[in-house]
Amino acid sequence: MNDNKPKIVVLGAGYAGMMTTKRLTQKLRPEEADIVLINKHNYHYQTTWLHEVAAGTIDDNRSRIMISDVINTNRVQLLQDTVVEINRDEKRVMLENGEVDYDYLVIGLGFEKATFGIPGMEENAFTIQSVDKSRMIREHIEYQFARYKNEDGDKDELLTIIVGGGGFTGIEFVGELAEKVPELCSKYDIPRQKVRVVNIEAAPTILPGFDQELIDYARNSLESRGIEFKTGMMIKECKEDSVVVGEDEEEIKAGTIVWTGGVQANAIIGKSGFELTKGKVNVNEDLRAPGYDDIFVLGDCSWVMDKESGRPYPPTAQLAMQEADICANNLRALIHGESLESFVFDNKGTVASLGGKHAMGTVFEGKKLFGVTAKAMKNVIDDRYLFLLGGPLLVLKKGKFRPF
Ligand code: FAD
Ligand code: NAD
Repeated sequence: MNDNKPKIVVLGAGYAGMMTTKRLTQKLRPEEADIVLINKHNYHYQTTWLHEVAAGTIDDNRSRIMISDVINTNRVQLLQDTVVEINRDEKRVMLENGEVDYDYLVIGLGFEKATFGIPGMEENAFTIQSVDKSRMIREHIEYQFARYKNEDGDKDELLTIIVGGGGFTGIEFVGELAEKVPELCSKYDIPRQKVRVVNIEAAPTILPGFDQELIDYARNSLESRGIEFKTGMMIKECKEDSVVVGEDEEEIKAGTIVWTGGVQANAIIGKSGFELTKGKVNVNEDLRAPGYDDIFVLGDCSWVMDKESGRPYPPTAQLAMQEADICANNLRALIHGESLESFVFDNKGTVASLGGKHAMGTVFEGKKLFGVTAKAMKNVIDDRYLFLLGGPLLVLKKGKFRPF
């Protein structure tokens, strides 16, 4: 690489990192900057499809996209390595297998599970946070079905699946289980009523804060397909084969426990000495880290305030992708000596899949969608992202263009 050119290093090939890199290759000429993208794997994955991978309703390969298939490797140096720490003062990133210096840094290292210190949760519960971890859930559930058929004794709890947390991840996951469980029952010749899928939510309702009519729709749809809910019930402890819940400390035995009770920013940003607000970097309006004009923090690592509500925007792929656009514009502006743009989130709505052809959500100015229409919209949203990333060929290869 040419030493006179600024070097932009992007950390993480999630929604934020991939879209920033893609936009940089469109906005900057090769002679204007060197671009390096560093990621743990040589593939990007659709985090928003991981609940489907975890339930086994889609193949994990469908959720993976080789980075070199969508990023021009003549323009971008891809480094498959794991970031260990960022040295902001020396402008250097420490990796498991070396180190890389930068002129400009984009941090898009995403989220990890938050267990809030609940005893045993870290050790005993599965989480939906990467392809590898999600695939383990799918395999574990099927293994429990196989054990049930092959082991003697009282073992009904092997067929109980507990999902801790009734936020969007927990609800989308039980929706996929509602579709997958009958398939597994048929494969292992087990009556459906033997299997329990129990969603446990601490708040009085699932999807706290969301539209009540849509919450009711989701709950009814899932209950009608055999999902049980325990709301207003906090998980206090997670053991190897049970969770302890509520004021009475009731113990519920299970063969599979999946924790979807919350997310936090990648711990690397805290370890690297950034000042944190609830575990994230409270970025300036131009998405740079306070005090560091050469560092942008995006996606689930960033804390971006919604001035209207006085609350931060929830961490979503939608937010990460919009931030990526502004980040790429601002990097171009920095290199050209122009003024930087402020980030303004344009909320296009929230649609959640409930398994199979079921879904619900709001789009545009709060228009509510239910059932097949919502599912078609969810597929359009998923395909739009694929289109932005890799054009029509990627949509044809990986897309959900069939409405259901
Ligand atoms: P990520 O997508 O998490 O990407 C981070 C990347 O960094 C990954 O590629 C990871 O491998 C890499 N990485 C991590 N650590 C290191 C390291 N140390 N070194 C190198 N690389 C590293 N949002 C929506 O808007 N709509 C939805 O429908 C939706 N559905 C969801 C469904 C599920 C099951 C989940 C879990 C989340 C969903 N979200 C959804 C939220 C959304 O997925 C996240 O907000 C989004 O992924 C954040 O994007 P990101 O680029 O910040 O991080
Ligand atoms: P979340 O923080 O949104 O939800 C976690 C839920 O777990 C909360 O309802 C919380 O009350 C509950 N909880 C916490 N501690 C508990 C305990 N001890 N016992 C029982 N329940 C407990 O986390 P998430 O669902 O993983 O979502 C993370 C982000 O990803 C959010 O911003 C969400 O909007 C986004 N997301 C969006 C979609 C979509 O748009 N379709 C899908 C999945 C996730």
